[in-house]
Amino acid sequence: MKYLTFNNGVKTPIFGFGTYRIQPRITEGAVVEALKAGYRLIDTAQAYSNEAEVGNAINKSGIKREDIFLTTKAQTSGYRETKNGIDESLIHAQQDYFDLMIIHWPMSDSLGTYQALEEAYQVGKLRSIGLSNFNHDQVNEIMNNFDTKPVVDQIETSVFKQQKKMHKYLIENNIVHESWSPLGEGMKALFNDPTLLSLAEKYNKTVPQIALHFLVQENIMTIPGSTNPLHMKDNLDIFDFEFTAEEMETLRGLDQKRGIGGWPASMDQELDY
Ligand code: NAD
Repeated sequence: MKYLTFNNGVKTPIFGFGTYRIQPRITEGAVVEALKAGYRLIDTAQAYSNEAEVGNAINKSGIKREDIFLTTKAQTSGYRETKNGIDESLIHAQQDYFDLMIIHWPMSDSLGTYQALEEAYQVGKLRSIGLSNFNHDQVNEIMNNFDTKPVVDQIETSVFKQQKKMHKYLIENNIVHESWSPLGEGMKALFNDPTLLSLAEKYNKTVPQIALHFLVQENIMTIPGSTNPLHMKDNLDIFDFEFTAEEMETLRGLDQKRGIGGWPASMDQELDY
């Protein structure tokens, strides 16, 4: 495993397990499998309605809590609602703290939402706070209004949608670029891409392993999801090789600014700035 250190000094595994679209009734089992496979970063959200099941899996795992990095996301707008939401999430997940809580998407009152996150950070309920689906201007607005800098912006990113401008901007501001849907939700075009297939052959890996390793080698925090234990294991087995500089350039050339679609334009990070 490779680790990153946030701008507030908190250390995180670069690679973890996403739980979007995992039904609550099977989430506990899936997270138990993921922890068994070796994942130590788990990503959930209020919007996934599975925080309780993720918490159950962590609490039953026998793994020390401090060895697990748990992220959740606020789906509330404004100070009061978010303050209550944080406490409800902690109760649902049966946790004393989250390692990271991010605003799931820009809210009508993102400043009030962030204020509640900052307050919870200051009293130790959250070890770090950040953003998701915020574009350049929206991240700037947060930075201009608060002393506590966001540690991450979790945005849609895959080898087909590399978010190069946001990547550069986030690095310049010492904010970690975190990817969601790193496999383009399993899109066929990505799995059949000839360049990825030939690198898979060269390194004796699968295409998803190649696509995931590319993001990790770019220092992008990455959290693929799967309920298949074999895929969980495979996705994690990407730390025993490195692409050459030339291969990284070739992979950067695969960017098509092509995402899974269906997200409001205001959340599209490729807006010119
Ligand atoms: P993903 O790109 O991780 O793809 C998941 C799909 O790929 C699933 O259908 C899975 O079965 C398949 N898959 C995974 N590994 C595979 C393998 N080795 N071989 C073949 N198929 C494989 O998409 P995702 O789950 O939407 O995104 C990952 C995580 O990102 C989510 O679980 C969630 O935690 C987070 N997320 C966040 C946001 C946000 O707004 N912040 C939005 C979407 C997802």
